[in-house]
Amino acid sequence: MFRSGLSRFSRFRGRRARFEHGPQDGAGLDTRLNALCDEARAMGLNTPQALLEYLDARGLDTALPRLTNCLTALSRAEGPLAPDQFGADLPLDSLDLLERAVGDRLAIPDFAHFCHRVSGFFSYARDNRRGQIADYIPELAHQDEDGFGLALCSIDGQRFNLGEAQTGFCLQSVVKPLNYALALALNGESLVHTHVGREPSGRRFNELALDPDGRPHNPMINAGAIMCAALIRPAQSVEARAELVRRFVLSAAGGAGCTLDEAVYRSELETAARNRSLVNMMDEHDAFPPGTDTKAALDLYFRTCALTLDCDALSVVAAMLANGGVCPVTGHRVIDPGIVRHTLSLMLTCGMYDYSGEFAFTVGLPAKSGVSGGLMIVIPGVGGFGLWSPRLDRQGNSVRGVEFCQRLIEDYPFHIFAGVASE
Ligand code: GLU
Repeated sequence: MFRSGLSRFSRFRGRRARFEHGPQDGAGLDTRLNALCDEARAMGLNTPQALLEYLDARGLDTALPRLTNCLTALSRAEGPLAPDQFGADLPLDSLDLLERAVGDRLAIPDFAHFCHRVSGFFSYARDNRRGQIADYIPELAHQDEDGFGLALCSIDGQRFNLGEAQTGFCLQSVVKPLNYALALALNGESLVHTHVGREPSGRRFNELALDPDGRPHNPMINAGAIMCAALIRPAQSVEARAELVRRFVLSAAGGAGCTLDEAVYRSELETAARNRSLVNMMDEHDAFPPGTDTKAALDLYFRTCALTLDCDALSVVAAMLANGGVCPVTGHRVIDPGIVRHTLSLMLTCGMYDYSGEFAFTVGLPAKSGVSGGLMIVIPGVGGFGLWSPRLDRQGNSVRGVEFCQRLIEDYPFHIFAGVASE
């Protein structure tokens, strides 16, 4: 089983992400559609229904916006499989995806087997009832401590989920990589890193500490994330800035619901002493850009931590990062590839609190956890997972989340350095 997992994925090591596509070329399209139907028929997929079942078994269905129109057209078609059954104006991007599916070149090959294995890791992790729910933000203590959801999205938009994958939860620190990416997009690397470092702190996420240059150590801890918030359109109102971030998260998640959890936001405002201390410390060391409204920066930080997604949507965010910044669900570019690279580098080195070094060593994947029990796991060039389970270990990571990652990496060569050790 282990070997087969390895060999099925080894050909995908070092693969490049899928990028946006240009306008379709009519003549080429007809030829390719004919070839697609020939290939499908050669595999015994003689009817539109047989092709739909084949795609469904590979995690592709009408819920994927890139395929909705053509799969709906196919579902209404009758008779033997033919090029005119794929609907009018089939986008090139959808045709590419269908070709990869029929040619067995999807990001996750043998999807049914992979999902079966993932279900096993999920069950294993579910049996783990260790850890404590975070209660220092009073509203978080109301979470269902036994809740557990998991969702997968590949860079081809193959989807699968388990448990409470459609239960919304507040992102907390899981939003930090996105705030950092947005701050980079708006200000550029040089300005952002004048004000925030890129070194693991080796301290608690809310420690009152700055680096030797008087900056927060990195954007994945509270001080650094408050700094990133300060750099997001500082001239605008907090409401407008929060809406900008919400829309950014929404596009990263492929348009699935992202709302502000007002109760969590209020709860954080009322218990903000430590985060206010971080702001005062940074102020004292002139860490903020001149003229920063630090109260507004902290307010924006809280609002972004209180944004909610479910595991399904979070897996799309992870897959967008795995895909170099193009959302695999919509096909839209959300983040430039250079910014994705910076973001993933910091998730790898700093994304798992004081367990980041250990996690990079043992699991070897860029990830970000939050005190609500959320966890985003990126498998570059393959896809991503969104996970939620609120019981935390002493470092603040979801106990089941870490357990799941460890099981996953035992069976699949996803560690970013797995390639150097494969025969
Ligand atoms: N809003 C939380 C805080 O500032 C985020 C903590 C976390 O998820 O690490 O304390």
